[in-house]
Amino acid sequence: MAQFRTLDELGDVHSKVALVRVDLNLPMADGRATDLTRARAVAPTILELADAGAKVLLLAHFGRPKGERHSTMSTSYLQGAVEEVLGRKLMYISEVSGPVVEQALTIFRPGDIGLLENTRFWPGEEKNDPEFARAIAAHGDFYVNDAFSASHRAHASTEGLAHLLPAYAGRAMQAELEALDKALGNPEKPVAAVVGGAKVSTKLAVLEHLVARVDHLIIGGGMANTFLAARGVAVGKSLCEHELTAKVEEIMEAADRAACTVHLPYDVVIATEFAPNPPSLRTCNVHEVASEEMILDVGPQATEALADVLKTCRTLIWNGPLGAFETPPFDVATVALARTAAALTREGSLVSVAGGGDTVAALNHAGVAQEFSYVSTAGGAFLEWMEGRELPGVAALLRS
Ligand code: ADP
Ligand code: MG
Repeated sequence: MAQFRTLDELGDVHSKVALVRVDLNLPMADGRATDLTRARAVAPTILELADAGAKVLLLAHFGRPKGERHSTMSTSYLQGAVEEVLGRKLMYISEVSGPVVEQALTIFRPGDIGLLENTRFWPGEEKNDPEFARAIAAHGDFYVNDAFSASHRAHASTEGLAHLLPAYAGRAMQAELEALDKALGNPEKPVAAVVGGAKVSTKLAVLEHLVARVDHLIIGGGMANTFLAARGVAVGKSLCEHELTAKVEEIMEAADRAACTVHLPYDVVIATEFAPNPPSLRTCNVHEVASEEMILDVGPQATEALADVLKTCRTLIWNGPLGAFETPPFDVATVALARTAAALTREGSLVSVAGGGDTVAALNHAGVAQEFSYVSTAGGAFLEWMEGRELPGVAALLRS
């Protein structure tokens, strides 16, 4: 695995100022955070540094203020939620650099934690302006990046700072990188990938990267329809990107060359209208879909066959649900396969790593998110990583 520094390599941090990039972009409603998952993820790093006597300054973005101050996107709105998660008081600091930060630090004691203002209030953040980064770096003795989910962007607080100060991966970043390495960097073979979700067009790069790296590529969701159509199957009114037929054929050929088995559903769950438990609901062979019907889930026989595939594998990487899982009963295949993966993980025969906004929701719906080896909530960064792209914020942490 590529080497990056972790907190284990920090010497004595007592009284030193740690600049810590975290993801605190919490979902809000009526000025209150509705989900504290992101704050909980970075709490171990913050507390570890504070308990070691560092003076901790938190850097975070919040919303999309596009380089200007917006009072509604101040990190001061996050203060209460973060204090609740940490069980500590924070000092909100209305700038990210300059005399205000300087002043605040004069009254900081070892172990104190400060929450700096939204980094994206300044245009230098998203431009990765070296001047802006230098102004922030001037306050710190070292830099910690614990925001994997923001590290696909080369911004001053995610990338620039790593070149100006001794830079370390925080605990959440470390856990994410280690899990991703186990799933795709250096996985135990055989490896299965489940790629589902709505559209092939949003995941072409993922598919192209995976075919050469996994032994089994399981295609589900709306994407499977495009693959089936490319094979000459009539998919009726199903969500399908007919214009991608040639692209899909290329992917199938690349899979052949790489000895990767592509699994498409051979039975499907269909209906004429997309609604909960519609009267037109039926299960059939993929060759029996009528022109007014649409495929909304993988069928029971194919789901069982996929479970058997997972039983032969040591590693699973999963992005995208197998069906329109938000609407019953089109969640059945996703829930069943997720439970199989969870059971195999529990038995110790499978390393299971999953990510993607809707995928996380689907695994929660199946009640098994906790049982997977690792579930990434990183969204865009997770997908870019699945595409095999180098994430600038991660690359900047690597030892040269
Ligand atoms: P993720 O957010 O995990 O990357 P996507 O956003 O790619 O996943 O896809 C999730 C969406 O795909 C869900 O909203 C789901 O309803 C939809 N979907 C899955 N299968 C189908 C299908 N057969 N037809 C239409 N939509 C589908
Ligand atoms: Mg999605």
